Amino acid sequence: MQFSQITGHQETKKLLVSSVQQNHVAHAQLFLGQEGSANLALALAYATYINCENKLPDDSCGTCGSCTKMNKLVHPDFNFVMPVTSTKNVTGKDVLSQKFLAEWREFVLASPYQGLNEWMQFIGAENKQGNISREESRQLVRLVSLKAFEGDYKIVLIWLPELMHTTAANALLKLLEEPPAKTLFLLVSQSAEKLLATITSRTQIVQVRNFTDDEVKAWLQENYQTNEQAAYQVAQLAEGSLNAATKLVTEVSSDYFVFFQDWMRHCYSYKFAEVVDMSEEFQKLGRENQKNFLLYALNLFRKVTLYGVDASLVPFMPPAEQNFIQNFSKVITQQNAGQLAEELNEAHYHIERNANPKMVFVDSSISIAGYLRHNR
Ligand SMILES: [Zn+2]
Repeated sequence: MQFSQITGHQETKKLLVSSVQQNHVAHAQLFLGQEGSANLALALAYATYINCENKLPDDSCGTCGSCTKMNKLVHPDFNFVMPVTSTKNVTGKDVLSQKFLAEWREFVLASPYQGLNEWMQFIGAENKQGNISREESRQLVRLVSLKAFEGDYKIVLIWLPELMHTTAANALLKLLEEPPAKTLFLLVSQSAEKLLATITSRTQIVQVRNFTDDEVKAWLQENYQTNEQAAYQVAQLAEGSLNAATKLVTEVSSDYFVFFQDWMRHCYSYKFAEVVDMSEEFQKLGRENQKNFLLYALNLFRKVTLYGVDASLVPFMPPAEQNFIQNFSKVITQQNAGQLAEELNEAHYHIERNANPKMVFVDSSISIAGYLRHNR
């Protein structure tokens, strides 16, 4: 992975690159970021940069012998520890990171933004929880006692160290207290508060913020050729997670905005024949898409409310949305704002619990029409 493959995060990339250039590479670093953030991607790009034989001013070269191996995650000095569990093929004492390396490579190369659930599914763990076991600590100690094969450093990347068994965590702590020469630990974590404080305090923390909506949008357009409007809608729902965005982009098959706009217009003018027609369309969306649509509607609705309070609270929107929000905010009062949001929340609740989508849609429409009319 190269820095250039990661959308945004210029400030963090700069920081990481300059630590290498100035020879200030801390022996233990904690890449802290939520699921779907760039924490793993940045750690991978950083490790690649450290090992690169032909460093550019702001990125690894991508083509030297080391980069070639790093990009396939097969560099002999680049080691991984991650949560695993027993599966159909791997059981008992064999349940160690090393036994899952082939899967791990494939998983990470497919996307470094995936989460623990996806990893567990990928290795066929079914409903079992993964962890970094007590036995793994022995492996870890053995691993760091070996000299680097090719590079200057031996790098150990630990994904989700918060899932370490106490024994493994203590073994890691010992290693951090008396760091073996030329060994780098890159901990990629989602929650520092679940780590031993004594571990955290011995690491240099690299805070990885969530992706911004614009970054998510740009990433989708580049990687999925998503059109502007759909990318925008997904970004609104993904909350800065590329993992969430990946799932959403395949689900957002229709144009939520147009649908929402028509829906509100029909409700406002009490056109219930049209509402019933729309409920058919709603039904066809399928449950996941129905839920996403309602979340999108809630989000857009929040903007309408904000817009009514102070237009500057709502930053950039596509022109069509802007126009609609401007008009719609005129019929929203403090009183019906709460009622409408509640209605959408309730519809989402019922869809989640397998209620009949058509009924939910029509019921909500009648309530919404009432709340809107009240204000005329
Ligand atoms: Zn290189």
